[in-house]
Amino acid sequence: MSLLARIRPDLAAFAPYASARRSGFEARIRLDANESPWSGDADASGLNRYPSPQPEELRARLAALYGVDPSRLWLGRGSDEAIDLLLRAFCRAGRDNVVAPAPTFGMYRIGAQLQGAEYRTLALRGEDDFALDDEALLALTDADTKLVILCSPNNPTGTLYHGERLAGLAARLAGRALLLVDEAYIEFAGVASACALIDRHPNVAVLRTLSKVHALAGARIGVLIAAAEIVDLVARIAAPYPLPTLSVRAALAALDDDAVARTDRRVDVLLAERARVAQALERMADVRRVWPSSGNFLLVRFADAGAAFARALGAGILLRDVSRQPGLEHCLRITVGAPDENDALLAALAGSAA
Ligand SMILES: *Cc1c(COP(=O)(O)O)cnc(C)c1O
Repeated sequence: MSLLARIRPDLAAFAPYASARRSGFEARIRLDANESPWSGDADASGLNRYPSPQPEELRARLAALYGVDPSRLWLGRGSDEAIDLLLRAFCRAGRDNVVAPAPTFGMYRIGAQLQGAEYRTLALRGEDDFALDDEALLALTDADTKLVILCSPNNPTGTLYHGERLAGLAARLAGRALLLVDEAYIEFAGVASACALIDRHPNVAVLRTLSKVHALAGARIGVLIAAAEIVDLVARIAAPYPLPTLSVRAALAALDDDAVARTDRRVDVLLAERARVAQALERMADVRRVWPSSGNFLLVRFADAGAAFARALGAGILLRDVSRQPGLEHCLRITVGAPDENDALLAALAGSAA
């Protein structure tokens, strides 16, 4: 059964806004979109025109980068937008539910709540390195489950959930729920993307983003990779022009071959730094645990997370306090920075721990 049978029934015949750029016509003089005929004084580069709903050049470039067919990509304002649209497309308010492990990225819960969907979580334990019991996760699903969301590597734990087990989960959810794999940090993990599963398991969808490894968080570009029918569905309900022209230009510049080669070298630096920082933290007296991480961050349990947070802040360094999340008592999430930033952090934490 196609997963499209599982979308909100009231959206089945939903007709998208017919924007001017969707007409398919090309012409020398465009009088179809109520745009200004003149470029603004400060910018002669065509910002007076609406952008393409899905810029072909960027789509083709990303498809090549991710090794998938362009028809499987939908580009949006960060992966946050794709999460939101999938929840909106599939979940009937007050009836359907979404299943995910916890702790994980907070936007899944927010998106589900905004849509009025129930958000069910499977608690993972730090003592078990946040190992995921697939059967326990599946046991939380029922006839009204529309999405199962796995973040891999998981934010904020750094845990990787990948390989054939994802195929197994997808097979068990076939025809009833989408298995959404958020790979915002996959480039730091050294493993293959779950994109390769989509051929065999059309109920798998993958999120990638330019916000992390490609250093474009400010451009707000995220990518949904899914079966063409899911991509078409999302494109149908999305805002008409999700991608600002300037962001598309920045992305194309950041994705040419030279830039990608530079990005790869920076990943190497970051991975070496991740290992160095983890080792140094493990030697500190008030560090209780540093979990293995496949992302560009470390989850660290301190004897007193509040004190460690304050020490870092006193040295002008902001960390992410995740200690209020269930299971993450006294934990901070620490982004791996540039070598000098990491030196400053280690000095600040070591200084007063003694
Ligand atoms: C940072 C992050 C993203 C990226 O979101 P964008 O909207 O693309 O910037 C997605 N998922 C997770 C888990 C993240 O940590």
